[in-house]
Amino acid sequence: TESLSSRDPELFKSITDELGRQRDEIELIASENIVSKAVMEAQGSVMTNKYAEGYPGKRYYGGCQYVDVAENLAIDRAKQLFGCEFANVQPNSGSQANQGVFTALLKPGDTILGMSLDAGGHLTHGAKPNQSGKWFNAIQYGVRKQDSLLDYEQVRELALEHKPKLIIAGGSAIPRQIDFAKFREIADEVGAYLMVDMAHFAGLVAGGQHPSPFPYADVATTTTHKTLRGPRGGMILTNNEEIAKKVNSAIFPGIQGGPLMHVIAGKAVAFGEALRPEFKNYAAQVVKNAQALADELMKGGLDIVTGGTDTHVMLVDLRPKGVKGNATEKALGRAHITCNKNGIPFDPEKPMVTSGIRLGTPAGTTRGFGEEEFREIARLIVEVVDGLAANGEEGNGEVETAVKAKVATLLSGFPIYPEL
Ligand code: PLP
Repeated sequence: TESLSSRDPELFKSITDELGRQRDEIELIASENIVSKAVMEAQGSVMTNKYAEGYPGKRYYGGCQYVDVAENLAIDRAKQLFGCEFANVQPNSGSQANQGVFTALLKPGDTILGMSLDAGGHLTHGAKPNQSGKWFNAIQYGVRKQDSLLDYEQVRELALEHKPKLIIAGGSAIPRQIDFAKFREIADEVGAYLMVDMAHFAGLVAGGQHPSPFPYADVATTTTHKTLRGPRGGMILTNNEEIAKKVNSAIFPGIQGGPLMHVIAGKAVAFGEALRPEFKNYAAQVVKNAQALADELMKGGLDIVTGGTDTHVMLVDLRPKGVKGNATEKALGRAHITCNKNGIPFDPEKPMVTSGIRLGTPAGTTRGFGEEEFREIARLIVEVVDGLAANGEEGNGEVETAVKAKVATLLSGFPIYPEL
């Protein structure tokens, strides 16, 4: 009966401080979002107490009749949202969704072909320090030198040369739509499975703003917490019954034990929200906002990799201003604008330094920002970057303090979680 604030004031303070941070800063991290109160309510519910190894109707524990309802809601809504026949909503994260597919379709030592991390891929697509790069013969494709666009020619050449068992399309810093039909063609040419990792743009697919991986992908994976605006977690989708069976066995008992039923409940709520007509407007606004942000940043003298974006995310090339990604991330942070340093394709700087930052509009759009606000945010970013360019690593304290005040004024019109 004791509340968190009195039972554990130390921990409680970390939560209230984090709430304050989220309220007071402009969130531009492309992989983050702001979930609804309903999603948090489901996630903070008694379903956290329940063991439910297995799947709805086929559990290894008693008392699963109500968590079955929640998981079936999540599955049915996911299928409806992405127009597919099968969904496994149990992966604890996007990484585990990918691991689940690998466990289902591959054996250690098999060849996989994915996008390299430094070109915009994800760690789990075959990067060296990741299990996917250690346990498989991971071949990596990238982007074209001349325009930083995905190099389909290279994908095809590497596929023909290495005959991968699985090809992965998708990544964490790809600002342009991916041509799934082309990937399918290449996969068919070499008899490979095609997996689309739509973690970043799943919400855009759900909202009709990005082509769907289906019918091209054999299997699609996603996180549920980025553009899709659900709780942190993962999911696997397919239309292939045989793959579906293998995926279910791969997630449990293959790589996971008891599913996080409270998170699955949160996923069900979020998928329900994404099925509403308003979510289409949200997804459309996310893209419009990203285009406005990119356009205004270019007007301010920054480069945008590929010259813009047709998704929620962009890579800002800071080199025209002569500043680094790590210093820019810190300077913007001091001005209450949150983002992450990010390598740009063929980045001459080390991954902990970088020549770029990655920006995204999903969280700001949830907050209510439109194009006008994102243009203002772009101008604030340019002010801070110019301060950094003129003053070195320390930045310009005066400019940063002034921008922080403008951020506070902007945010005062867009409160979040007023009930908390
Ligand atoms: N796949 C892609 C494309 C991602 O961007 C991410 C998240 O960063 C993941 C997978 C992994 O998701 P998680 O962080 O939930 O393990």
